[in-house]
Amino acid sequence: MATKAKVKAKRKLDLKHFEALLKRERERLLEERERIKRRTEFVEGAVPDESWESEEDSADLSASMLEKEIALSVEDDLEEMIEAVDKALVKIRDKTYGVCDICGGDIAVARLEAIPWATLCVNCKSLVESIG
Ligand SMILES: [Zn+2]
Repeated sequence: MATKAKVKAKRKLDLKHFEALLKRERERLLEERERIKRRTEFVEGAVPDESWESEEDSADLSASMLEKEIALSVEDDLEEMIEAVDKALVKIRDKTYGVCDICGGDIAVARLEAIPWATLCVNCKSLVESIG
C-alpha cells in the first residue's frame, strides 16, 4: 500500500442523516406543543367560577392552576427546543452543522446522535453551565 487516505481538514458529517433526525424531532415537538396547548385550554375551561367556590373546589382549582403552570412551562421548553432545532437546520444548510458555536471545534458525533440540535461541544457546554 502506498499513500494512505488523504487527511481531511474538516470532518465530513452525514448531513442528510442529521437533517432527517432534526426534521423528525421538529415534527414530534410541534405535535407535543399542540397537545399541551389543547390541554391548557381544557384546564382553562375546567377552572370554575369564583362565585361557587367551596373548600373542595378551591383545592381542585389550585390543582388545575398547578397543572396549567406545568403545562405552560413545558410549552416554554418545547418552544426553546423547536428554536434550537430550527437553528440546527439552518446550520445544516450553511454547512456549519456540528461545529461548536464557542470554540469552533467539532461536536462529537455521539453527542449529535443523542442531541442533534446541540450547538456546543461537551467542554463548552459544561463551561457555560458552570457559569450559569
Ligand atoms: Zn466548544
